[in-house]
Formats: sequence, C-alpha cells, structure tokens
Amino acid sequence: MSVKYADIIIDISHEAIDRTFQYKVPEHLQKIIGIGTQVSIPFGRSNHLRCGYVVAISNEPVFDVDKIKEIDSVKEEGIAANGELIALAAFIKEQYGSTMSNALKTVMPVKEKVKGLTNKQVRLLLDSSDITKRMELYRKKNAKAKLRLLSELAEEKIIPYNLVTGRLNISSNTLTAMENESVIVVEEEGYYRDVLSHLGGVKSTGETPNGEQQAVIDRVAGDYERGIKDTYLLKGVTGSGKTLVYIEIIDRVIAMGRQAIVLIPEIALTYQTVKRFRNRFGNKVTIMNSRLSKGERYDQFEKAKRGEVSVIIGPRSALFTPFPKLGIIVIDEEHESTYKSDYPPKYHAREVAIKRAEMSGACVVLGSATPSVESYYNALNGEYKLLELPNRANRKASLAKVSVVDLRNELKLGNRGIFSNHLKELMTDRLSKRQQIMLFINRRGFAGFVSCRSCGHVFKCPHCDVSLTEHFKGTVREKLVCHYCGYEQKKPKVCPKCQSPYIAGFGIGTQKVEEQVKLQFPGAKVLRMDMDTTRKKDSHEKILSLFAGGEADILVGTQMIVKGHDFSNVTLVGMIAADLTLFDNDYRSAERTFDLLTQAAGRAGRGAFSGEVVIQTYNPEHYCIETAAKQDYEAFYEEERTYRCMLKYPPFCHVLAVFMEHDKYDELVRCTEDIASLFKHRDEVHIIGPCDAVISRVNDLYRRVIYLKHEDYDKLVFMKNQAEEYIEKSQGFKGCRVSFDFDPMHSY
Ligand code: ADP
Ligand code: ZN
Ligand code: ZN
Repeated sequence: MSVKYADIIIDISHEAIDRTFQYKVPEHLQKIIGIGTQVSIPFGRSNHLRCGYVVAISNEPVFDVDKIKEIDSVKEEGIAANGELIALAAFIKEQYGSTMSNALKTVMPVKEKVKGLTNKQVRLLLDSSDITKRMELYRKKNAKAKLRLLSELAEEKIIPYNLVTGRLNISSNTLTAMENESVIVVEEEGYYRDVLSHLGGVKSTGETPNGEQQAVIDRVAGDYERGIKDTYLLKGVTGSGKTLVYIEIIDRVIAMGRQAIVLIPEIALTYQTVKRFRNRFGNKVTIMNSRLSKGERYDQFEKAKRGEVSVIIGPRSALFTPFPKLGIIVIDEEHESTYKSDYPPKYHAREVAIKRAEMSGACVVLGSATPSVESYYNALNGEYKLLELPNRANRKASLAKVSVVDLRNELKLGNRGIFSNHLKELMTDRLSKRQQIMLFINRRGFAGFVSCRSCGHVFKCPHCDVSLTEHFKGTVREKLVCHYCGYEQKKPKVCPKCQSPYIAGFGIGTQKVEEQVKLQFPGAKVLRMDMDTTRKKDSHEKILSLFAGGEADILVGTQMIVKGHDFSNVTLVGMIAADLTLFDNDYRSAERTFDLLTQAAGRAGRGAFSGEVVIQTYNPEHYCIETAAKQDYEAFYEEERTYRCMLKYPPFCHVLAVFMEHDKYDELVRCTEDIASLFKHRDEVHIIGPCDAVISRVNDLYRRVIYLKHEDYDKLVFMKNQAEEYIEKSQGFKGCRVSFDFDPMHSY
C-alpha cells in the first residue's frame, strides 16, 4: 500500500493555527479515513492529542517525511463532515471572514454522536422453530439469564437495550455470549427518534392547487425534471398559498430520488406549518430546531444522511443537513433578517443556499410576500427567475382594508391614550361581534427607558451603554432589566440622585398595551406574546393555539404574532406605533418597517369575514407607511431602490462592517485606527469611521466600528483577507475581538 498523507484542520478556534497540518495516515486506518473524518492527532511540541478534521488526502508529503507525525486514531464519537460541506465551509470562510475551524463548526451544527439509550436495542435472530430448541438448551445448562431474555424476545422480537439491562437485569457479558451464539444482535443504530410521531402519518387535506399555483409548480418542477437548476423568487401575497406550492414542487423533486431542505424563520416553525408537510410526506419529513434535544438533533441528521427522511424543515442551520443527493432548497419568508447569522461567520443563508445548490445540483426557491430589496433586484435583472401569486388562495378572503391614523391629530383632539379614536371604535365593534383582534407593537418590555421625573436621572445598565427597561410581574412594576446583557435590578422606590419617589417609564411596549386594553375594555380576554411570555419550550405555540381556538378576544404581541398561524376569525389588526422601527438609524429600517406592516396586515381577513387594519403613526406621509397602507410592494420598491441607489447601499453598493471590541477603550481606539490605516490610501474604497458603535459598550466591552463601501463585493472580500492577515501577523491585537459583517442587517 502506498503511503498516504492527510491535511488536517485542528479543532481549536485560534487564528494562529488556522491552517492545515499534514499527517501520515497509518496503514490500518487508510480504509476508513476520508475527507471529513474526525481524527485524533498529536499536536505541538507536547504532542497532546487534539481533535481535527481531514480536509484533503494526497500521496505527496509537503515536507521532510521523517518529521511528519502520524494520525493517532479515528474519533469514534465524531461525525464525519462530508466533502460538500467542507467545501461549503471553505466558501463561508472566504466570503464572510472567520477561522476555518469556526466555518467547519457552522456547517456541522451537530458535531457529536449522541448515543441515547433509546436508540440501542436487542434484536432476536432466531425464527420460531429454533427458539424452542434453544430454550431447551438453556434450561439444560441452567443459563437463567439467557433463558429470561429469550422468553421475552419470543414475545417481542426487538427490546430496547435499557430495558434488557435494566428490568430484565441481563449483564453485558451475557449479551456478548448470546451474540456469539448468533441468537441475538445488539444494534447500536437503526432506530432514530421520530420527533414528529405525535402528528401521525400521511393524510389527505383535499387541497388541490389552483391555476395560479399550478403554473408556478409546473414551471419549477418542470425545469428541474428537464435538468434546469435555477434560483426562483416566488413573490406571493400573504395567504396566496405558498406552502402548498412548496409541497407540490418538493413532491416532484423527491420523486426523482432527491431530497429537500425547507428553511423557515424559527418563530414561524409552528405546529400548523409542520402538520401540512407531515400530512403529505408522513415520516419522510422531519424538523430541526433549537428546541430539540442534542440526541434528537443528531438523530434527524443521521436519518437524513441515510436517506430515511427526504424533507427537513428548520431554521438557518438546517441548510447544512447532510443529505446525500440534495434536489431543492426552499427559503420561506426569504426577506427575514434571521437568515443572516449574527455571530461570526456572519453568513447569509440565501447566498450559502445558492452555493450549496450549485455544488449538489439542486434548485432554490425563495418565497415572500415582501421580498428583500436585494432579491427583487436580482429577480428583475434576471439573476433569479421571478414567479408571482397575486391573489389569495382562499377565494372568499380578500386583502384587508387599511386606514392610517395620524397620531399628531389625536394629540390635538386631546386623546393622550395609546389607542386612537378610530381604533377604539373598531375594537368595540369587533368585541361586540365576537370577532378577534390582534394588536401589534414592534418592541418588547414595558418602556423605552426609565427616569426620574424630578431630576431627569436615567437608569442605565452598569455594564452597557444602554438605559434599563421596566418589567412587570403581574401588574406590579418590579424590576429594571438590560436587554443587552440581561442585568436586572429591583426597581428603586426613590431616585438615587434626588430621593424623589417619581420614577417612571417612557414609551410603550407590549406590557403597556396589555395594561391599557384591560383598563379600557375590562370585559375582553387578552393574551400577550413577546420574549417574556415565550421563554418556556412550547409557550409560543400554546399562546397561538389558545388564540386560534378562540380562548381570547385580543392578542397583543411583538413581531412574533405576525408569522405562523392562520387565524380565520381575526378581522381587525391594529398597529399601535408603526414608527418604532422606522428610525433605527440604519439603511434597512424602512424595508423592515414595510415588511412588518404588510405581514401584520396580512393577518386580517383570512377567513370568510373581510378584515380591517389600522396603522397608527406620527409619519403618515413617509413612503414606507403610505405604500404599506396600499399594500403596494412595487411602489415601495421603487422608492427604496432610488434611495439606496442614491446613497450607495446594497444592492447597488456593498458594505463591510469591521466590528471591534476590547475591554480597554484606549487600546480599542489604537486597534481600530490601525486597521483603518490599511485602507486609507485606496481611493476606490469609501471608508466611514472608525467611530464608536451606536451602543458603545456591552457587557463591559467597548465597541467600535469601521465601514467600508465598494460596488464590487469581491474587492471587499479582498480587503477583509488583508485585514485578517494583518491582524494575525501583528502583535498589537491581543485582547481585541474583530469580526466582519458583509451587507449588515443592522447598524453597529
Ligand atoms: P402564504 O404562506 O402564501 O401566506 P398559506 O400557505 O399559509 O399562504 O395559505 C393560506 C391559506 O390558504 C391556508 O389556509 C391554506 O390552507 C389555504 N390554501 C392554499 N392553497 C389552497 C388551495 N389551492 N385551495 C384551498 N385552500 C388553499
Ligand atoms: Zn431624581
Ligand atoms: Zn447590560
């Protein structure tokens, strides 16, 4: 056998060793080591054993053969990354900036085998005629334990391992002996948790696609059947039935022996959505999300790898499901900012999906009622194929009637409450008709900030450069909380500066809306849904189900209530303060506000009764409010496009944010100036900063940022590489955390 060498990435997040190291593959391991195998290797002078991933194998040593160390062993509990995912990791490292080790961690959301007791089992190998003979033999030999197990297995051919060693009290020696006699086999694998078993199997829903839906299905599936692999943007109004379209397309793609990944924002991954997939695909579909246990997540990926499931639904990380022959990636609500990772590598699932599809011969379907400006731009210029569903699927349902209330006028009329007169009237009307209402506010907690009304002292977090927010327990205002680091303190009775007892919160949040509803509509039953009421595992689902089941008249919530369930009895949606997200000091704030308003409006009138939407705002003439009120995406896009083109923002220009943190401010300033000087003499790049981040300190770390702008994305990648190289070589960046963010979703 010829000698083989493996290039290995050490599994330590440390820039200095973020390169491959060559090792000799011992002969006895040659058959089992391949690209992606997790191995143990002696590393450094001490030869401590470290974990690493094989990323390449060759016959050529790159340096002195005698000095090349040998791989120690293959990690049993490790999961092999397949070659495609390793190539994807390399793409992520290059495009978004990170260590190779972190990029590998990203493409392998499940890194370890989790041997739950439940997936180990004992199976009987004898048929019934042999059982009697074998029992006789055991009786003769007085092998009581063996006899005990065999008589159980005679009843039930497969018994979970933990039952065998537990209740039946069979030792592992006995099991090994029986395995050697070929009576039983202990299977370590072969049974993987079905996390959706409670949903049952295939059930017909009787829904057949309408003409518009069928045309979209035929286009995408037809292309795929003819070997055309494209990226499609499906622009379908809220309620147009995009889910059924995805299901039908996937059905045809998996009929060709391929698999499907469906990405959904985590909060939209509800019972209702999953149930529809389950009805069609039975146990061929599974889910992935952060609420599954480690073992459950491992099982789902393992089932995918073996082809036991063909469809997986999950958030961003499901993109890395190790399907052997991926055929399609669907990204629902493709405009959602959660598709962008907010920790390094800060990759965008849409771009990585397109890359993965290209590598595995899959197509990509992006779906949204309000496509991201980037995607719509790409669809108009032909990069993506544009498909449209302009009507609601349910013929009885029509788009809601929207009215805009100018809150400045309310103030003039002497209404200082949070509900305009118009909204109040409509609420009274709906409550009397026993129809349901959703009230939407894009902020959580009680108040913007808390201050002393006598001296103006503002309560701030001791660890962050932000003010604290007031929270309730029941109806009692009891604590002040930092939304950035989680710091909490009891709400003081008097101001620490002037001893005044007049301490109060300003601004509005979900809790205040709930409080006001209870005050002004004492008969109404109210549910509230925000970060605070959905901390527990299934609370999100529970609140939505209660509301869908008519257990409450009014649902108050943040953007969370905008996605997911189809509420047929909701005929009024109120947006309490549409402006809250409009002045986030960030080039995407108009887009985000337009999306939220349109999606929220899309909740009304899904059933037989028509719906109404009230948008309360201080800026009724802002284009994003005006176009949202008309539910006119094209008009919004036109305005937004002009604005982005003029001010040079994506998709017309690309932005790279170099974000840096340090616990010493002076050091941080020096580091940021140092990095900025790398780019100062390049006239083709536009530099903004360095400057303090909007929130200049979090968790006792100071934060600064540099923005680089260029029309050519690859130029920015090149600069990122230069910065990475410089930081690695220089001694001056100890204690400084640097991360890169291309076309960021928020300002720093
Ligand atoms: P979207 O995701 O586009 O907002 P959904 O997929 O949630 O829309 O569908 C909206 C509603 O229309 C759902 O209640 C769904 O069951 C229903 N629906 C979709 N397609 C059809 C159809 N062809 N016939 C009848 N009802 C449909
Ligand atoms: Zn005071
Ligand atoms: Zn804090």
